[in-house]
Amino acid sequence: MPLQIPYNHQTIDEDDIRAVSEALRSDLLTTGPLVEKFERAVTDFVGVDSGVAVCNGTAALHAAMAAIGIKPEDEVIVPAITFVATANCVIFMGGKPVIADVTPGDLLLDPEQVEAKITPRTKAIIAVDYAGQPCDYDTLGDIAKRHGLLLVDDACHALGAAYKGRKAGALADISVFSFHPVKQITTGEGGMVLTENRELAEKARRFRNHGITTDHNQRAEHGTWYYEMTELGYNYRITDFQCALGISQLQKIPAWQARRHEIAARYGEALAELPGINPLAVSPDVNHAYHLYVIRLDPAITGISRKAAFQAFREAGIGVNVHYIPVHLQPFYRKKFGYKRGDCPVAEDAYEQIISLPMFPGLLDTEIDRVIQAVHIITREHSR
Ligand SMILES: *Cc1c(COP(=O)(O)O)cnc(C)c1O
Repeated sequence: MPLQIPYNHQTIDEDDIRAVSEALRSDLLTTGPLVEKFERAVTDFVGVDSGVAVCNGTAALHAAMAAIGIKPEDEVIVPAITFVATANCVIFMGGKPVIADVTPGDLLLDPEQVEAKITPRTKAIIAVDYAGQPCDYDTLGDIAKRHGLLLVDDACHALGAAYKGRKAGALADISVFSFHPVKQITTGEGGMVLTENRELAEKARRFRNHGITTDHNQRAEHGTWYYEMTELGYNYRITDFQCALGISQLQKIPAWQARRHEIAARYGEALAELPGINPLAVSPDVNHAYHLYVIRLDPAITGISRKAAFQAFREAGIGVNVHYIPVHLQPFYRKKFGYKRGDCPVAEDAYEQIISLPMFPGLLDTEIDRVIQAVHIITREHSR
């Protein structure tokens, strides 16, 4: 079998290793000066007031739900095509994720479906910038405003992306990034909550540390040992040496994003001539971050099912993947909320056809050629 090309892989260089080593030699291993420095680096990059760094993207989603005050019985609208964490975070607060369908071209949350799912219990919408493409925030923001809802951006795919010139992370009331190794930058595990609203940021900050306030006035009054726990929180802290890695990684985003665009252009050009193979639609309003490069394979034209194509790619040493199994079809969601096949037909159709091709800055030109060649062979062998 030829050498496996992964679908995604982190890039770590000597600068990163040096930054982490230096942090490990300092006195503070967990919350130290680098946490705040990383928060400031990301918020400066995005152009937003506040950032709260946490131990992973799922914790960031949980903190965002806590900050906006999701309670039992509250409903939050989420898209069918996303990682399960987007919907799970609503359940962490006792709320109900109401799963809405996506639009067929780009697999992003469909504003019309959002509007159709709003009830008196709806409190928020979580949009997901799937594959690294920001959603239609003008339309979603308008819907949220008209119905008095909070708009949340699960921007875990989209650090560096932009919508109408504004960066992902600054497009909603509160936004979330993940720094898992497959994402745009990594801290090993890590995440961040971003918002313009200082009150929401403070709530997320307390939530990260057991719901404990760090009010200097109280300490001055009662003594330096004094603290108050005012609500339930968790230990969702990130370490200083992880933030050292994040600060170092963030500097590479412009170069990495240029490379992701190059790869997308190469794929796009090569696949344009293949009938039945279509990349997802890209809006002219966005700067795509290309976390994923997703193609739709139409078996009626290519003569090969997604399942068989997936197998053929893997046998050729191409580490393709599928993002995602629609959330409402997961056994837990079927059982707990009664979701069933037919609830989100666009997502279900797409799921039968999508494949994510390898996409990461370290992907070599020769590897891109191998991927393109494999797509040609797989579709030529089967097309009728
Ligand atoms: C990765 C991801 C998450 C979760 O992030 P973790 O850091 O793995 O917890 C949430 N939502 C989406 C869309 C993601 O891709």
